[in-house]
Amino acid sequence: MSFTLAIVGRPNVGKSTLFNRLVGRKLALVDDQPGVTRDLREGEARLGPMRFTVIDTAGLEEATDESLQGRMRKLTERAVQMADVCLFVIDARAGVTPTDEMFAGILRKMSAHVILAANKAEGRAGESGLLEAYSLGLGEPLRLSAEHGEGMSELHAMLEPVA
Ligand code: GDP
Ligand code: MG
Repeated sequence: MSFTLAIVGRPNVGKSTLFNRLVGRKLALVDDQPGVTRDLREGEARLGPMRFTVIDTAGLEEATDESLQGRMRKLTERAVQMADVCLFVIDARAGVTPTDEMFAGILRKMSAHVILAANKAEGRAGESGLLEAYSLGLGEPLRLSAEHGEGMSELHAMLEPVA
């Protein structure tokens, strides 16, 4: 049996970088397929021997009449409803922001199954942000570097119970 993972979090934390790493170049062009919304990108992920569906909440960077906060909330709620498990990504270099706290609130309210990930944690620059992440009350944060491919086997281990 397979499962669906939604990657959620505020803009610029590295969601799409992780999505592309999981899906690979070949399938990362799902945007171009007809019928695929620009707001939620879906792809088939490979992580070691594991195969699953992954959803990236994209499209937040586009300007619309609606506030960014409202859009983020709606998109996140849609992605969470489609998913079995959510990867909530924060930027370990920036630390926990008020927007991150808003996301944590949405996920708690929806009783989503959440894995918290502190991305951009390569090197030492992410260490304080990693510690701050505990304050979100979502358990132990996963130390991730989507860009450098660090933390992928730990992510695999955390997804094992869902698979
Ligand atoms: P999204 O808006 O959450 O989808 O974020 P993106 O994937 O577009 O990434 C935003 C920026 O963060 C880009 O410049 C990425 O290259 C950078 N980025 C993503 N992952 C990492 C990482 O692990 N480490 C560092 N240092 N930068 C990263
Ligand atoms: Mg993105």
